[in-house]
Formats: sequence, C-alpha cells, structure tokens
Amino acid sequence: MLPRATCEVDLDAIAANVEVLRAHAPGSAVLAVVKADAYGHGLVPAARAALAGGADWLGTALLAEAVALRQAGIAVPILAWLWAPQDADLAEAVLTGVDVTASAGWQLEACAAAARGAGVRARVQLKVDTGLARNGASATDWPALVEQAAALERAGTIRVTGIWSHFALADAPSSATNAEQLGAFRAALDVAGAAGLTPQVRHIANSAATLAAPAAHFDLVRPGIAVYGVSPGGELGRPERYGLRPAMTLRARLALVKRVPGGQGVSYGHEYVTPDETTLGLVPLGYADGIPRAAGGRGPVLAAGRIRRVAGRVCMDQFVLDLGDDRAGEGDEVVLFGSAARGEPTAEDWAVAAGTIGYEIITRLGPRVHRTWVGTGA
Ligand SMILES: *Cc1c(COP(=O)(O)O)cnc(C)c1O
Repeated sequence: MLPRATCEVDLDAIAANVEVLRAHAPGSAVLAVVKADAYGHGLVPAARAALAGGADWLGTALLAEAVALRQAGIAVPILAWLWAPQDADLAEAVLTGVDVTASAGWQLEACAAAARGAGVRARVQLKVDTGLARNGASATDWPALVEQAAALERAGTIRVTGIWSHFALADAPSSATNAEQLGAFRAALDVAGAAGLTPQVRHIANSAATLAAPAAHFDLVRPGIAVYGVSPGGELGRPERYGLRPAMTLRARLALVKRVPGGQGVSYGHEYVTPDETTLGLVPLGYADGIPRAAGGRGPVLAAGRIRRVAGRVCMDQFVLDLGDDRAGEGDEVVLFGSAARGEPTAEDWAVAAGTIGYEIITRLGPRVHRTWVGTGA
C-alpha cells in the first residue's frame, strides 16, 4: 500500500549539514535547534542525526519538547527558552537537567522553587533582549535579573550555565542593527561578569549568523533552519552556496489524470483556464496538509519530467496541474519540493511562490502527510 503523499527526511543530510555548520564556527560548540518537531523533520530522529553530525547541544522552544528528548534517552545538554507561568513541564525539565531560560525574575523564582522541590540545582540560562524586543530581559531590567540570579547561585539553588540573546536582522548581515545588538550583548555580559556570574556558554548566533557573522559566534552557535538544509533567506542566498543539503522531500502521487478541452476553468473560482485541450493531473495535497493557499497559480511541482505551476487555487485537500500533452498516469509520483541538485523545486521556491519564508513551508506539513526517514539511524 503506497501512501498518497510522503514527506521523506534524509537523516544523513541533517548530519552532514551540522558538520558544515561546525566548520563555519570552528571555535564554538554547536547547538542544533530541534523545536517545532525539528522544523517538521521529526523531533527524535532529527535530534539523533544532528548529534551524529557533531552537535554538542540541542535547543527547543518549549520545555515539553526538551522533556520529550530526555524521555527518548537523550542525555546531552538541552536548552529550552519559551515558557509561561505554571508550565506543566518545568519540574521535569529542572529534574532532568534541562537548561531553562529565564528572561524575568518570576522565571528565576519558578526555577528556584522547582530546584528545591526536586532536590537538585537548576541549570538556568539568562536571556537578554539586545534589540529584538521579543523574549529576554530589557537592558533596564538586566542588572536586577543578574543580581537575583547571582544570589540564587551563591545559595546553591541554581547554576547560571549560559547567557544569550537573539538577532532581529541576522539574515541581513550588513545591517547596522546587528552591530548594535552585538555591542548591547557585550555590555550585558560585562554586567553579568561584574556580578560574579561565570557562564559556560555565551551565544547569540542563529543559522544566518553562524554562516555569515563570525564576530557573533562566541562560545556556541545556535542554528536551526540550516541544519535542515534550508536557507535563512534574506541576503544569505541559496543553501547550496554553503554546501547545505535539504533534508526534506515532499512527494505525492497523482490521484486522477484526465483530458479536458481548451477554455476549461480549473479549480475553485476558475482562476486558471486551459489554453488548449490538455491533460490535468490531480495532486492529493491541499492547504489542510500545509500546502499554502497563497501559492495558487504559482507553486512549483516537478511532474512528468518538468516543473509546472499549480493550476488555479489550492483547495483543502487537493490541487490541479496542467500537464499539457505529456504522458502521465494515476499513481505517478510528483515532487513538490526537495533538492535543486536533483532538478526538483525547493522549499525556498515555495516560499517565494507563497510570499513567505522557507521556515513556514517545512514546519507546516499536516498530520495527514505520511513521514519516512532514510539514511543512517532511520
Ligand atoms: C528558532 C531559533 C533559533 C534558530 O534560528 P534559525 O534561524 O532557524 O537558525 C535560534 N535561537 C532561537 C532563540 C530561536 O527561537
């Protein structure tokens, strides 16, 4: 029984991409970001592949994601950074030695309480907002956060293992904002040093900064998207430029193939009209599967030997291709995105077609899409 659509994840590509990233930051440890189900690639298999490629740390947004890695038996250092009050996974994260990020005093208090409850010393990393204005303590709140952390460290309740921040415009390495953020980060490190903190890792670089901003590497780099062989976009250009290989390939099998006359409106709204008599191929994937509706009329698909554009609108479960007079049959495989080296469209191509970023294309495939893993460790 063949599934109607398959998302194939190449674990060797993930491992090889981590090696490439390590080579870009030879003096730094590598933390592979595996949040959001490893950007859609499968949390545990992708994490294991990243470790096989030489990653020293793993990073997740949610505490629950970090705890899931621990439950899978993964013992390497893990950093998690996004949690709200009364997070159900905090106690387990602290107990299992996950590095929990604190951006505010209430988070330090919650970590300290969890540490006392578990009878362990919590591993905490402090996050400073150097200009993204998202998570992290603002420059005004930073000295008080650092003092509070230093007091808890002296009391033996927590250990401040890291200090970190995040860029707003990493995909524009030439932007002055990056230099300003680096300056603010160094100032924040000085404040922490003056308070007696001696973090093991200081870090600010995501994929784009790992590839293009060596001054931002510090003790550890924190790439996500590049681990999966997709470009961060912006000024960075295509992933091949850095020797990165896309790990995800999305294929589907034509569900119906039929001849229609010229002048036939296709799919809802009849936004595409066949110029001549032609063959239509029905692709059984739609926006409920993560195919962006915004890519109607534009999304590229390799089918019957050529790259075609989605004919008309993307529907909830399906869309249509105009195959002209090329030979095609039901069950034939088409490729939505995969590897440019194999002549396939890429996640970046779909991002352009849908007016979004490659991140959104690979992270949003729905639960109806069958996933398989290939390569070592699959
Ligand atoms: C997602 C994320 C990363 C990884 O970013 P990429 O652009 O995918 O490399 C790094 N750090 C933080 C805080 C993140 O949220």
